[in-house]
Amino acid sequence: MTKRETVEKIRKILLEEKAKILAKLERAREEQNAAREKQAVGDEVDSAVEMEMENLKVALSGMEVQRLRQIEEALRKIEEGTYGYCEECGEPIEEGRLLAKPFATLCISCKEAKERQKF
Ligand SMILES: [Zn+2]
Repeated sequence: MTKRETVEKIRKILLEEKAKILAKLERAREEQNAAREKQAVGDEVDSAVEMEMENLKVALSGMEVQRLRQIEEALRKIEEGTYGYCEECGEPIEEGRLLAKPFATLCISCKEAKERQKF
């Protein structure tokens, strides 16, 4: 597989992932609206549980939104032609690594160097 083919494949994966997240967020929003309507007519007994569910959903959608940003960033880089290069050393990131982790912004050696710094 050429680099271009790999990037094209990743672009498709990213677009699919993006569509999935958008659909999930949309569904969560609808559920939230439905829950709110139910809460308006119901009594207060279940509201603590529902609050918890609400918080969970907000946390979840926070993660989704962050993932969405990563996707947008990767897609932007693909458009610009800067996708797949290490942000530290500027070397191309291994294609196998990109396929496994499409949001990787560092090559293996820079990532390992960074991880070593942490400890
Ligand atoms: Zn690097």
